[in-house]
Amino acid sequence: MTDSPATGSAHRTRTLVILGAGGDLTARLLLPGLASLLASPRGADMRLIGVDRSASTDDAWRKRVAASFAESPSKTADTVIAHTSYVQADVSDPADLARVLEAAGPDVSLYFALPPAVTLLACKALRTLDLPKGITLALEKPFGTDYATARSLNRLLQHLVPEEQVFRVDHFLGKSTVLNLLGLRFANRIFEPLLSADNVERVDIVFDEQLALEGRAGYYDKAGALIDMIQSHLLLVLAFAAMEPPASVDAEDLRGGMAQVLRATRPWKKDGTASRRARYGAGTIGRRKLPAYVDEAGVDPSHGTETLAEMTLAIDNWRWAGVPFVLRSGKALADARQEIVFTFKPVPHLPAGLHGTTTPARLRIGLKPASLDLDLMINGEDDPFELDPVALHAELQAGQLSAYGEVLASILDGDPTLSVRGDVAEQCWRIVSPVLSAWRKDAVPIDTYAAGSAGPKSWH
Ligand code: NDP
Repeated sequence: MTDSPATGSAHRTRTLVILGAGGDLTARLLLPGLASLLASPRGADMRLIGVDRSASTDDAWRKRVAASFAESPSKTADTVIAHTSYVQADVSDPADLARVLEAAGPDVSLYFALPPAVTLLACKALRTLDLPKGITLALEKPFGTDYATARSLNRLLQHLVPEEQVFRVDHFLGKSTVLNLLGLRFANRIFEPLLSADNVERVDIVFDEQLALEGRAGYYDKAGALIDMIQSHLLLVLAFAAMEPPASVDAEDLRGGMAQVLRATRPWKKDGTASRRARYGAGTIGRRKLPAYVDEAGVDPSHGTETLAEMTLAIDNWRWAGVPFVLRSGKALADARQEIVFTFKPVPHLPAGLHGTTTPARLRIGLKPASLDLDLMINGEDDPFELDPVALHAELQAGQLSAYGEVLASILDGDPTLSVRGDVAEQCWRIVSPVLSAWRKDAVPIDTYAAGSAGPKSWH
């Protein structure tokens, strides 16, 4: 028997209840992630219940679970499929939710795979019920729609359960490639002492995708690249890249360290204009011909949604004062460049006689595929006094679990280390607010780029 950090209860079979079991997230990410966990040596002692508002049967639900589990078969997965059940319920209705909780029993995790507005209604409905003591609540992103709504959602959650029983899911925290940052920084004396304003000129955190809208206009056209990627995922990556070494990687220390560095983070210019935005026009990626973003099904051009966003940030603390952190993410780009790059300052003095073009030393941590590159200058082969660039390259291990498998493992273990703490979620909204309001006022123009290009020509 083990104790769960969040609930303090001795370990018993936990019931994972997916609210919104008929949705896209459940089929595409949650259930395959769960299958990867069940097939891994870590496994999970759990029961699964699917809840949605449409009429269905246990058998039909089992078939859907089996289809989503197909890529990672295992005996444990077969057991979960055999025992899973379906409850038809309107989760905004307290009586329906009471039925769901009764079916789940005492050790339950509710996963809100619901539209954000429905999640809010379900949380309000939960307030009217007596909740089992060890219940944990897993909420998907977006967490609120701005700083004020994130704060009020946090207040509502505080009335339901203690903070350590709330799991604000951001699957980037479950990515082994992002977690690699911790080992790389804090287990190697050769990197960590150099990562500060004394030595680093700038830091870039880039997550470019070749994927375009892929039928997700309903969500994306209201969010855009800044909210979809930078406000949540990339600011969390920044926190891992810039935080002070924590005493441990338990939930308190790690999340405390993230909160501390994010509290010191602000847009480079307080008015939010140290930022750029753009939208893709028609173009070709590989063999795929893409229409302009505004011509994609479900897009309302009057929203002025950006598909490429960049913002520059400052961190007002001893370690990072004066170093720009440039966060960028976009869709329908030529290359899926996804990396964190620390660019070092030039050496204070290059010995006279050493010549050649010098490029700055760079530490590059690839997020996909997981890799490590150190770009250096060394003496050349032909002329030993001429400098040549060289790159030291290592492939890093990808984790055994998918990011959602990792997220679900932590929820089922009751360990909130890899979930976003309430104050961190609020900080992420605070940091992007000036940029959002500058964009709303059109203080930053929206550029265009051809799908499949490297971005707007004026940005190069
Ligand atoms: P969907 O709209 O595909 O699924 C939501 C499900 O909830 C639907 O089956 C819907 O039923 C059901 N539902 C709606 N209202 C109720 C209600 N009152 N009672 C019971 N069931 C209800 O959304 P997604 O799966 O795409 O997204 C879910 C959450 O995950 C969102 O917060 C989203 O931001 C987040 N997310 C999604 C990602 C994705 O790739 N899809 C990625 C990352 C996060 P009906 O169809 O009848 O409306």
